[in-house]
Amino acid sequence: MRDKIKLTGNLAIELKTIIAMTDIYCRDHHSTKECQSCEDFIEHAKLKLDRCVYGDKKPACKKCPIHCYKPDKREQARIIMRYSGPKMLFKHPLLAIKHLIKATKKFPATIPEGISNYHLRKNKQ
Ligand SMILES: [Zn+2]
Repeated sequence: MRDKIKLTGNLAIELKTIIAMTDIYCRDHHSTKECQSCEDFIEHAKLKLDRCVYGDKKPACKKCPIHCYKPDKREQARIIMRYSGPKMLFKHPLLAIKHLIKATKKFPATIPEGISNYHLRKNKQ
């Protein structure tokens, strides 16, 4: 049975940002109200945020040495971010600024262990 992913703190903010960007893109490119492709993309992003080895302190994904997305989802992310990125500052200024700050953070030299949201959740049980 799949356990329920619960994101908090910075990871929750990041998911909110991804959902906002995907919504902007979807509204302008897809005609259906319930868009399976974008819904699948958000699910994938949520799963990856949960498993991210850098945990709550993760920098922005762009310069990540790992790139954990599946290739097709990574491509989808690139297209969505490129389209919605410039629009975010006007539509969701707070999320946009938080993301810009995150983009200045550097990745640690070594991959941390056991601090992903997934690990922390499992250890609590
Ligand atoms: Zn869509």
